[in-house]
Amino acid sequence: MARQEMVLDIEDLTVSFDGFKAIDSLNLYVDKGELRVIIGPNGAGKTTLLDLICGKTRSSAGRIRFMGNEVTRLPEYEIVRKGIGRKFQTPSIYENLSVWSNLEVSFPRGRSVFGSLTFKCTPDVKARVEAVAEEINLKEHLKTEAGLLSHGQKQWLEIGMLLMQEPELLMLDEPIAGMSVREREQTAELLKRICVNRSMIVIEHDMDFVKRIADKVTVMHQGKILAEGPMETVQADPRVIDVYLGH
Ligand code: ADP
Ligand code: MG
Repeated sequence: MARQEMVLDIEDLTVSFDGFKAIDSLNLYVDKGELRVIIGPNGAGKTTLLDLICGKTRSSAGRIRFMGNEVTRLPEYEIVRKGIGRKFQTPSIYENLSVWSNLEVSFPRGRSVFGSLTFKCTPDVKARVEAVAEEINLKEHLKTEAGLLSHGQKQWLEIGMLLMQEPELLMLDEPIAGMSVREREQTAELLKRICVNRSMIVIEHDMDFVKRIADKVTVMHQGKILAEGPMETVQADPRVIDVYLGH
């Protein structure tokens, strides 16, 4: 019953690397429209969890359901097609193409960069590029070569490239690393804005940023969930202070 309201429903998920359980019998439930932040010390298994959800890594046991359907053993490209978008820590944009072209080639239907050079831009693609550019604060930079953008703008562009595919669930791994204070503030606003129509999982270390964006926080430690709840509750949890926040 409650399952209908869930975008992600993970049970007993385990992955072992040479006998070491990087994810250990983990359960995680994310609601539709929720912005969940995952925190925890280095090596806790946060990135590995996203790798499992997006199909980059295969689980040893357990299952992952997305929008009520099992996706545990699907290949990565099928998981993307089902509506899970994943941003990695280093941006993968086309530096020598304009912001416009970067967004345009990300429109689903599988065109290559080269194909797009002769691609006749339809009104719906154009409208989507403009809407996404506005969402990611790059509307004034559509003609700018992506390589000339600031570090923060490049991160936003990559988020925009994922938004072109209209994912139901967007996962971001440390999106504000290396950003200026102003860019961090703008990114917080940006994430809250784009979360209106979708669910999001964000891994982050900056507690001020986490406080600003999180609906709920999950604290991971040694491949398991140590604590979960509103930021204030999690922050006051002695176990969380002991393994993470106290350092
Ligand atoms: P976090 O993102 O929380 O810092 P990771 O998910 O990157 O942690 O890593 C969790 C643990 O799993 C670490 O001890 C890491 O060394 C290990 N690990 C991650 N990926 C692999 C892999 N492909 N092979 C072996 N060990 C891995
Ligand atoms: Mg990581």
